[in-house]
Amino acid sequence: MIPYGRQDIRQADIDAVVAVLRSDFLTQGPTVPAFEAALAAKSGAQHAVAMNSATSALHAACLALGVGAGDRVWTSPVTFVASANCALYCGAQVDFVDIDPRTYNMSVAALATKLARAEVAGALPKLVIPVHLCGQPCEMESIAALGKRYGFKIVEDASHAVGARYRGGPVGDCRYSDITVFSFHPVKIITTAEGGLATTNDPALAHRLQLLRSHGIVRDPSRMVGESHGAWYYQQVALGFNYRMTDVQAALGLSQLQRLDEYVARRHELARAYDESFAGLPLTTPWQHPDSYSGLHLYVVRLRLDVLRRTHREVFDALRARGIGVNLHYIPVHTQPYYRALGFRDGQFPEAERYYAEAISLPMYATLSDEQQAQVVQVVREVLAG
Ligand SMILES: *Cc1c(COP(=O)(O)O)cnc(C)c1O
Repeated sequence: MIPYGRQDIRQADIDAVVAVLRSDFLTQGPTVPAFEAALAAKSGAQHAVAMNSATSALHAACLALGVGAGDRVWTSPVTFVASANCALYCGAQVDFVDIDPRTYNMSVAALATKLARAEVAGALPKLVIPVHLCGQPCEMESIAALGKRYGFKIVEDASHAVGARYRGGPVGDCRYSDITVFSFHPVKIITTAEGGLATTNDPALAHRLQLLRSHGIVRDPSRMVGESHGAWYYQQVALGFNYRMTDVQAALGLSQLQRLDEYVARRHELARAYDESFAGLPLTTPWQHPDSYSGLHLYVVRLRLDVLRRTHREVFDALRARGIGVNLHYIPVHTQPYYRALGFRDGQFPEAERYYAEAISLPMYATLSDEQQAQVVQVVREVLAG
């Protein structure tokens, strides 16, 4: 089976991990700060705070921005559940903004309409979480302008978009947001096995994120209430978690980061080849917004069911049966049983639901060979013709 995504682990990665295993610190040593510094430099942000997952980083980001009971948080329905769950962890209410039919990202027009109505109803969100689906950056400048006008904070869920660029700047530079979150799960563009990271340009937010990552504990006497008792002393000044990344993971991340640009470039090469091969077939290839350079975490095609004689399910199953490990990103979050129980219904976000009825993620990862890709193309052609 050719999977839809796969990590690339080389000898240099293994050597970097082994070096940490042989060192004095498996966690809370020098490698996590080194990884943070490298990612801050790469993404052009002032601060980077590594965590044990993007889910943890999203949770900490919501808390750092003061999201709590009674607050509203809006995100895209076409995302992994973690983008919405992070708000529920804080006791906030979640709502969704339908997607743009071309980019599949949160629609700026739908956001503007929903905000205008929410203002009248006195129900504006405290935080909006745009998700850079497939690695394609959202229209952040417009979203940030709406944020100014309506007074909401912005966390970019850039789990798919490390290495992507938007209007000439790297995703993660927080030009148009308060915090940006990356994921380093093995299916993502670079990996730390499990891991995530939050970037910000606000030193107070960076400090809050660090506190939340490690039990709300401070060791710097200048951050303490009253006097330090001595060199052993620490204080818990907030309620935090253990969301720390280990030095073992950070070593893998640092090593992987050296190849980030190469990985994204290869993904673009593969996407171009797919685009060309699929011209004329009854499917829609991913449209790229001219303002964005996608990380291309995923390559999603949409079936033209109006002209196909097979159903979405039949095409999906036929591809799997023939060794193509296709997947579907994502089941609209509002249709999950947990969210239905909160009151969401079918039909609320029609573009997201239409997308779900047609989308298929094809294999897309840096080590997918030209031969493997040609095989994918061949099978797709045959399945669509059959
Ligand atoms: C993978 C993913 C997450 C969660 O990442 P973890 O590091 O696995 O916690 C969140 N949001 C999106 C859009 C993702 O794809």
